Amino acid sequence: MSAAEKQEKKEEFITFRYPRTVVYKHNLGYQSKFAHALKMGRILATKCPVDGRMTIPPRVVCPMHHVKQTEWVDQGQRGKLIAVFKINFPMFDSRTGALKNWENPIVAVELEGGARIDGWCSETDPSKLKPGMILEAVWRPPEEREGKAYDILHWKPVE
Ligand SMILES: [Zn+2]
Repeated sequence: MSAAEKQEKKEEFITFRYPRTVVYKHNLGYQSKFAHALKMGRILATKCPVDGRMTIPPRVVCPMHHVKQTEWVDQGQRGKLIAVFKINFPMFDSRTGALKNWENPIVAVELEGGARIDGWCSETDPSKLKPGMILEAVWRPPEEREGKAYDILHWKPVE
């Protein structure tokens, strides 16, 4: 056994016990305005100066025209249903890792301001959802919001 190998054997191992909680704090930079608006119950999008296309989540540069997007536009609380689909088998929740059934369909909504956003729908029967019908955002209580799209609990059909 060489001197180096003897030295290696004497070293103590550092032990970590799992699970352990690690808190990450991310600087959202340009998107922080979008996150802060969500906490206030508002949906903001950036607007392309070339064709006026609205983008959610907001981007610094328009992916189509490669120009800076400096204008922010409030998208309102309502929008038109564009598409709907329902997951009919248990699937993992990416936020919790838990296997769960998905009662609420996923909807794509074109907001009053022109941007599109995805979310859950409060109506669990997809046959009652028709393209073009108006949906309204239902928010989590202000104290539960985290500045994520998840702050919108679901989209509810407007009677
Ligand atoms: Zn553009």
